[in-house]
Amino acid sequence: MNTLSEPLPSLGGPSVTARSIIDRLIGFRTVSRDSNLGLIEWARDYLQGHGAKTRLTHDASGRKANLFATLGDSHKPGLILSGHTDVVPVDGQAWDTDPFVPTERDGKLYARGSADMKGFIGVALAQAPQFVAALNDNRLDAPLHYSLSYDEEVGCLGVRGLIRDLEENGIRPAGCVVGEPTSMQPIIAHKGMHRFHCCVRGREAHSSYVTHGVNAIEYAARMVVFVRQVADRLAQSEQRDYGFTVPYTTLSTGLIRGGIATNIIPSNCEFHFDMRTLPQASADAIYQEIRAYAASVEREMQAVDPLSGIELVWDSQTVGLAASETDAIVQWVMRLCGNPNVGKVSYGTEAGLFQKMGVPTVICGPGDISEAHRPNEFVALEQLAQCESFMNRILQTSLRHLISC
Ligand SMILES: [Zn+2]
Repeated sequence: MNTLSEPLPSLGGPSVTARSIIDRLIGFRTVSRDSNLGLIEWARDYLQGHGAKTRLTHDASGRKANLFATLGDSHKPGLILSGHTDVVPVDGQAWDTDPFVPTERDGKLYARGSADMKGFIGVALAQAPQFVAALNDNRLDAPLHYSLSYDEEVGCLGVRGLIRDLEENGIRPAGCVVGEPTSMQPIIAHKGMHRFHCCVRGREAHSSYVTHGVNAIEYAARMVVFVRQVADRLAQSEQRDYGFTVPYTTLSTGLIRGGIATNIIPSNCEFHFDMRTLPQASADAIYQEIRAYAASVEREMQAVDPLSGIELVWDSQTVGLAASETDAIVQWVMRLCGNPNVGKVSYGTEAGLFQKMGVPTVICGPGDISEAHRPNEFVALEQLAQCESFMNRILQTSLRHLISC
């Protein structure tokens, strides 16, 4: 039996049960653009087989769903183990193996989603029988919830429906562990994540008659440069939070398309950018600044053609996470991990949304985020073993004090 407060032991690899569930999850091709129902229904049936009460919340198309499942008394507040079921695409990436077939080599498990985050989900699901046994003999004094979401990778979209469903039905969990890959270090803060797109509508003309057209690409380029200037100013002057690798708010343009031929003044150009805010920064203030600039550019365009213009759309926002080292949930996870050092990360997760709902939340899971989203994504087997030890330690603690916080 593990001793609490000591570092999690590195035992070669996960149990056979956990490994077989992880392999199974990896086999479901749950790229965000595709359906995740195969995985969700399998996990629902598996948890129902262990006596869980389950709720599904679907997207508008019915092709995707979140699963919320409870082991134990679903009327009492419990602990959520949370993970997203979708994975990023593999298109155009050079993989050495089939990304949807788990491949073990040199102590690592290679597959899309192995680290982000089917390893964590698999270990958590494999623990269900032990959780049930501990609930039955009162070793565990609060219910365990599983939250499995869709469309996390495209802006934490799915979990919002799950949270709405919990709120509408008066379900108030006591705490939440989001198992994103942190190398099993407790993470107490992450940046806010915001996505925007901007459509610039100009007027087409022959490229030899520039005065007759409104060049959408050129005006879009001015917008892109402005976004970069805002980013540069924040990089220079925003108050630093050195808990983050990049200690200030960032903006970055990631996609642009426009025009059809060199000799045509382009009528359309669209670009997408993202913004990663420090937890205390105001995304809205930055957005308003970009909007104001767009309005001034638009006036210039409309002086040539009143039908031209700029549309700026705030596509998604995921609030930042800002927990404190003194929060009961953070103290509890630090103790379970035997890790006195908490961290902050720059990537966004569902944790901020759970915190906003009023559920104290911390991020802790197996694997290294720097291996996620890349070709040959992997999770070290010993990381999965550590995660399993963490789950085992849950059985040795009281969850009561989390409920009172
Ligand atoms: Zn993830």
